Amino acid sequence: MFFNVVEKIIRVTKAFKEPRVATKDVTHETMHQSPVFRGKHEIRYDICTGCEACAKICPVDAIIMEPLPIKRPKALPEVNLGICIFCGLCEDVCPTKPEKAIKLSGGTFEMITGGTDDDIKNYWVKPEVPAEWIEQKKKEEEEKARKKAEMLAKKKAEAEAKKKAEAEAKAKEEAEKSAENTEASKGDA
Ligand code: SF4
Ligand code: SF4
Repeated sequence: MFFNVVEKIIRVTKAFKEPRVATKDVTHETMHQSPVFRGKHEIRYDICTGCEACAKICPVDAIIMEPLPIKRPKALPEVNLGICIFCGLCEDVCPTKPEKAIKLSGGTFEMITGGTDDDIKNYWVKPEVPAEWIEQKKKEEEEKARKKAEMLAKKKAEAEAKKKAEAEAKAKEEAEKSAENTEASKGDA
């Protein structure tokens, strides 16, 4: 009995000396996670090819492809976390190497919303594409198209020159043959 009272006094004294918080904000603390942890999606606009494989394989149609004003990628995936079931199939099927253009194992698990129905319906992961990147891509595509057009024009000109040279050679050969035949007929006469 005496020892119980002493133990209680020590415990209470300790509690007063080292006050503990009832709740702790762990939002920004690192937590243990498996290497294959499926967190919030990370989408790499800079390596995505716009192949749509992730959108096609998604079993709940949580991914839509948002068009871009460039040819490659012509569209980027956007994920509706309100209906995603975190199966990871989109990451599995993504063909980019060595990095996946879409992955769930980035370790982001802050997915707190206001909790209203609208919040849940509008909770999307959308890649933020800088306008400068789009402009750079457009310039690269224009340059590529210009070089391709130049190359095709050059090949066409070469083919036409070759055809013309062949036609001229043939005409010359026929003219020579004709002259030879005329000479031969004169000799016979
Ligand atoms: S994790 Fe599964 S459900 Fe979620 S977007 Fe990817 S494929 Fe769809
Ligand atoms: S994220 Fe991957 S699978 Fe999806 S469109 Fe881009 S490259 Fe294709």
